[in-house]
Amino acid sequence: VPELPDVEGFRRVLAEHAAGRRVTSVVVHDAGVLRGTSPRALSDALRGRRLEKPGRHGKWLVAPADGPVLMLHFGMTGALTWHRPGDPADRFDRIDFHFDTGELRFADMRKLQGVRLAADDHEVAEVLADLGPDALEVGEQAFADLLARRRGRLKSVLTDQSVLAGLGNLLADEVTWQGRLNPFRPAAELSDAERRRLFVALRRTLRDSVRAGRVPTTGGWLTGVRDEPGAGCPRCGTPLVRRRLSGRGTVWCPHCQPERVSPGR
Ligand SMILES: [Zn+2]
Repeated sequence: VPELPDVEGFRRVLAEHAAGRRVTSVVVHDAGVLRGTSPRALSDALRGRRLEKPGRHGKWLVAPADGPVLMLHFGMTGALTWHRPGDPADRFDRIDFHFDTGELRFADMRKLQGVRLAADDHEVAEVLADLGPDALEVGEQAFADLLARRRGRLKSVLTDQSVLAGLGNLLADEVTWQGRLNPFRPAAELSDAERRRLFVALRRTLRDSVRAGRVPTTGGWLTGVRDEPGAGCPRCGTPLVRRRLSGRGTVWCPHCQPERVSPGR
């Protein structure tokens, strides 16, 4: 599932191969990924336009095109890849953006989200209006304030895009494990020291994940072992525990991430 690091990877693909180049044509194979636009409108708006430096907010990739702005959301299964002309197509390719040097392909099996076209920056701001600050950009004080104001459990708060934009299921479990905090604790109950620890874990986890283009699965990360039956905590060896929370599998270490915290911890 694409989370912040994956989308940052797609942003880099676009920046490296397509930024500064003109769109020569847009081929929509499946209009089911279009949101609020049509194949004709998308093509008319982008053809002949030069893509500029792309940005990202949470899980949204925002690609200005010298006027209109292309906005991509990858849902559960989306991806953006660069191909040379004539590279074999994939059955889940939904839109090809052609340039004279090659093409960007937006693929998405499940089509839960997709592609929007904003007329200008004002419309971009409207689409992003309900999102909290980007998880990679948020400062320590703002992060602490966000947690303190929320009633929910820690993991639910971390994955709520209106609180903090960019974290999904894997990253939220990884960050709480790295920060040694139980994902079911009420977010507002964390001490100052715990909030600080969580913030440090968030920064480190995101930076390493962005560098890897995904949440790393090697080198002692929870993500590397979470799907193994009977897996132990990479830090202490205690068997990991799993439970459903809001329909998603949550994994944690009962030793490193106790549900009840003794005073003075
Ligand atoms: Zn542990």
